[in-house]
Amino acid sequence: MNIQSAIKKGSTILADSKIPSSRLDSEILLSKALNKERRYIFLNSFEKLSNNVLKNFYNLIKERLSGKPIAYIVGKKEFWKFEFDVNENVLIPRPDTELIVEEVLKLTKNKSNIKILDIGVGSGCLILSILKERKGFYGVGIDISKKCLEISKLNSNKLNVTNRIKFFKTDVDNFNYGKYDLIISNPPYINNISFNCLEKDVVNFEPRIALYGGMDGLSGIIKAVNKSSKLLKKNGKLVLEIAYDQKRSVKKILNDKGFYINKMLKDLAKNDRCIISTKM
Ligand code: GLN
Repeated sequence: MNIQSAIKKGSTILADSKIPSSRLDSEILLSKALNKERRYIFLNSFEKLSNNVLKNFYNLIKERLSGKPIAYIVGKKEFWKFEFDVNENVLIPRPDTELIVEEVLKLTKNKSNIKILDIGVGSGCLILSILKERKGFYGVGIDISKKCLEISKLNSNKLNVTNRIKFFKTDVDNFNYGKYDLIISNPPYINNISFNCLEKDVVNFEPRIALYGGMDGLSGIIKAVNKSSKLLKKNGKLVLEIAYDQKRSVKKILNDKGFYINKMLKDLAKNDRCIISTKM
């Protein structure tokens, strides 16, 4: 069988099992089986595949049929301008979260020597993208999960920013190191009802600890705000990702802690997704 027919076959198998983006997934999995970049398969569509590669390919298709997200199968995900290693211990970076990177870059234009804390650093996609874009910035990433930190450290190595970032394994409540110009966080914010409605690919494979924010989805946000009110310098900014329906509650949480709300940002689906505030 050649590359072109294998892709078609993989895509049909996935589509028959109602896997969305079956064609793209089939292409990505065949590239993985071949250990080549995706463009290789377009440039060599008539190349004949060995039995070994085909066997690998069908095994990968089988994994995808179980609902496992492509990013976990191939072990990486593009975010912002970079590629991050991921595994089932970290949330897969979402395009909507790139909003935070974009906003932080706007907020810090022409600044240097800025200290940033990322609460719940996960794969490191947020803070590492920012450090990579801004040479004079320094970062601290904290996470309660040791396995997450293994991945974020690996990514800081890949992106070559290890000399500008420190990682700590800690619960946010027990963390008291440093003062920051900027704090960013994409905390777990999904509430009980929404959690039960999440897609199977998400609930069955992504870490619950990175998604579930308690009954009302606000417990991780409250922790992040409380800590930020202590660790932010005066006039320092907090950039938080929130759920589409949390704007009012989060504004109140922030106001009660003495934060001034600067602005809200909408995600690609036009839902409220990010809130920027200043510690007064
Ligand atoms: N945006 C993610 C989702 O909808 C949730 C991320 C989070 O809880 N921080 O799956």
